[in-house]
Amino acid sequence: MIRINAHYLKLQASYLFSTIANRVTEYQNAHPDQEIIRMGIGDCTRALPAACVDAFHRAVDEMAADATFRGYGPEQGYPFLREAVAKNDFQARGADIAADEIFISDGAKCDTGNFQEILAADLTIAVPDPVYPVYVDTNVMAGRTGPFTDGRYENIVYLESTPENNFIPELPDVPVDLIYLCFPNNPTGAAITRDALARWVDYARQNKALILYDAAYEAFITDDAIPRSIYEIEGAREVAVEFRSFSKTAGFTGTRCAFTVVPKSCMAWDENGGAHKLHSLWNRRHTTKFNGVSYPVQRAAAAIYSDEGKAQVKAIIDFYLANAHVIRQEMESLGFTCAGGRHSPYVWIDARMDSWTLFDRLLSETGVVCTPGAGFGACGQRFIRLSAFNTHENTKKAMARINAAAGRITG
Ligand code: PLP
Repeated sequence: MIRINAHYLKLQASYLFSTIANRVTEYQNAHPDQEIIRMGIGDCTRALPAACVDAFHRAVDEMAADATFRGYGPEQGYPFLREAVAKNDFQARGADIAADEIFISDGAKCDTGNFQEILAADLTIAVPDPVYPVYVDTNVMAGRTGPFTDGRYENIVYLESTPENNFIPELPDVPVDLIYLCFPNNPTGAAITRDALARWVDYARQNKALILYDAAYEAFITDDAIPRSIYEIEGAREVAVEFRSFSKTAGFTGTRCAFTVVPKSCMAWDENGGAHKLHSLWNRRHTTKFNGVSYPVQRAAAAIYSDEGKAQVKAIIDFYLANAHVIRQEMESLGFTCAGGRHSPYVWIDARMDSWTLFDRLLSETGVVCTPGAGFGACGQRFIRLSAFNTHENTKKAMARINAAAGRITG
C-alpha cells in the first residue's frame, strides 16, 4: 500500500494569499469603479536591467547555432558566473569565498527549502518569528517539528523579532543546532549590525551549530557599516551557509537565478563525532537532484556584474528604495511606528490593532491592499507589511488615499 509522508498533514494551509485574493475580489465586485492598488506584493515590477537583456539575447543567439550551442552545463553553474559572484559579491568586500564554493541554482526558495535535507532529522531548529514561511514548512515536511498547537509548531525554537529588540532576535536560551537568519529581513525589513551578527556566529561556533543565512535582500543595503554577507564576520566560514538571489537584486523573479555559498571549511558531524564537509554533501545533493540553470539565464545574471549592469541594478534598487522612503515617511506622519524600508523594500508597520482588521480597513476605505503580518508568524499579528515594489505614481497615490482616510482607518 502506498503511504504518504504523514508530516505533510501537520502543515497549515497557507490561507494568507488566497484569503487576501478573496477579500480583494469581493471588494472589487462590490466597488467596480474603485482602482485597487496592490502594496502587498513581494514581486518586482521593473523590467530586467538592459545589460542583462542584451546578454540574454546574445546567449539565445549562441543557442541557435550548432557551433555555439550548449547542452547540459555544470550543475554547480558556469565558471564565468561563479567567478563573477565570488569576486564581486565576496572578495571585493573582504570575504574569503572562492568560486568553487558557489552553487548556482534556480532560486533561493528551493535552496533555503532543500538545504535541511543533508542534515540530521532530529536536530533542534531555531527560526525567526515573523519569517519567510519556507524555512518552517520545509522542516515540518522533514519531520523535525511536532504538531501545530496554539498557533505554533512544537519543537521549534521561535526567535521572536519585536519592537523591543528592534526586530533582531536574541540568542536562544536553549541549545539549538540549526539556526535560520534572514537579513535584511522579510517581512520586518530589519537589517542586522556587524556586532549583532558576530554574536550569532560566536554562538554557532561555541555550540557547533549551523547558521543558514538568507541574504536575498542584500542589494537593498545602502550603509557600508551593515554587513552584506555573513562571511564579512570572522569565523563565519566555519559555521554558515549563505543564500543569495538575483530575484530582488535585478528583477529575476520570473527569469530564475540564485546561488548558495557553502564554504569548504563548514563542517557538520555524524553520530560518531566524525566531521564532514557540508560542501561535499551539498555538492552530492545538488549534482544528483539538479541539472543546472539555463545558459542564457546565467549569461544574463553575469551581466549584473559588468559596469553598466552594476549601474542599472543600482538605479532599480534606488527606485524601489525611494518608494519605501515615501511609504515610511507617510505612515510615520500618520502616527504609525514603522520598521524597515531603509535597507529593504518592505516597511513593517505597527497596526496597533489586529493585522486583518487594518487590512480590511485599508481595503474598504482606500482600495489599498497590504499584507497582514499574521501570515508571517505569531509575532506578526499586530503588524502589516507594505511593499515598495510598485510605480512611484501608485505608491504616492496609495499614500495620499491613506492620508485622506486616516481618521477612519485608525479610529
Ligand atoms: N528568501 C526570502 C527571504 C524571500 O523573501 C524570497 C522571496 O520572496 C526568497 C528567498 C525567494 O527567492 P527566489 O526568487 O530566489 O526563489
